[in-house]
Amino acid sequence: MNLHEYQSKRVFAHYGIPIPEGEVATTPAEAQAVAEQLGGPVVVKSQVLVGGRGKAGGIKLAGTPEEANARAEEILGMDIKGLTVQQVLIDPAADIQSEIYLGAVLDRAKRRVVLMASSEGGVEIEQVAAETPEKIITVAVHPYLGLRDYQARYLAEGINLPKEYTRQFIKIAKGLYQAYMESDASLAEINPLVITGSGELLAVDGKIGLDDSALFRHPDLEAMRDTAAEDESEIEARENDLTYIHLDGEIGCMVNGAGLAMATMDIVKFYGGEPANFLDIGGGAKADRVAAALRIILSDERVKAVLINIFGGITRCDEVARGVLEAIDTLDVKVPFVIRLVGTNEEEGRRIIAEANLPTATSLAEAAQKAVAAAKGETL
Ligand code: GDP
Ligand code: MN
Repeated sequence: MNLHEYQSKRVFAHYGIPIPEGEVATTPAEAQAVAEQLGGPVVVKSQVLVGGRGKAGGIKLAGTPEEANARAEEILGMDIKGLTVQQVLIDPAADIQSEIYLGAVLDRAKRRVVLMASSEGGVEIEQVAAETPEKIITVAVHPYLGLRDYQARYLAEGINLPKEYTRQFIKIAKGLYQAYMESDASLAEINPLVITGSGELLAVDGKIGLDDSALFRHPDLEAMRDTAAEDESEIEARENDLTYIHLDGEIGCMVNGAGLAMATMDIVKFYGGEPANFLDIGGGAKADRVAAALRIILSDERVKAVLINIFGGITRCDEVARGVLEAIDTLDVKVPFVIRLVGTNEEEGRRIIAEANLPTATSLAEAAQKAVAAAKGETL
């Protein structure tokens, strides 16, 4: 789960990181009222769960409350990378002298949380990493010791931060690390952290990605979930306890178990196809969960064929077969299916599928080849 910019910045503020004191608005009139309250020029910022809003025209300066109204009118309802803007953040406009990047992420290879800083703030960090990797300075944090002052100072020196900002920078870096740890985040990022004309460091943008598996420990953060801004398929997947990740290919995959799902995606690629998703229906899935999984897969217009690969253990093949047929009955299915069922109750499962005249396969290689062929429009 990702937090909006305004939510992320409020979490940061809780950890002593200075942020602009803005408010969220859902109408142009509200935006104007917030701007009046703040006084002075403001920045109107679309709140959508993607980066690069500035480039997409979703961030605009406004000199007066009337201008804030007009800019909010333009930005609200705007489509940014497929998401509709429903809220804007009205912040006092910052007098930006320079932009810095500061982020915390988990480095799995090092098995440590890593703090990254760069003098190239305001640009997406992936771009900096690709073009000028030497401009990213990192330190790995020891889990027992936490972020030490000398490490934060090393980052500050590495990005050539003028000395007078070192003390503020250390405080912000420590606050960011603490926010990351205490929220069970997978990413906490300030981009840009700016130096203002009056000589302050200020977090102008914020982003927090939370580890869904740890959300149960953070009801306050879970309450920030904005379902209106989330992808419908992701919401349905979560409600049905499915692990679903949308990808760009054309073969919808429904598998039980994360390892088998990975193997299925690999073999689809091996035979020249591209998976449209990662979908793990989990152990012991009943017919209704299977039906939900298929609804999600079929709602993706790119899907040209569906590959169902079930290794029955706790999950029973006959249950899965019934779920597939139930889903096909209720949905308008236009794409071919290839179904491989092995394990618990496989005979019963195959019988149910065969009666419905759907193609089956016994080996995974055969199933993948058939799915790739079906996606290319070949008849099975
Ligand atoms: P993103 O494009 O989604 O990352 O949104 P940001 O909040 O990072 O804004 C993008 C860029 O807009 C920043 O890098 C700044 O250059 C600019 N910007 C954002 N807020 C302000 C502001 O208050 N004043 C000024 N002058 N520029 C701003
Ligand atoms: Mn940004």
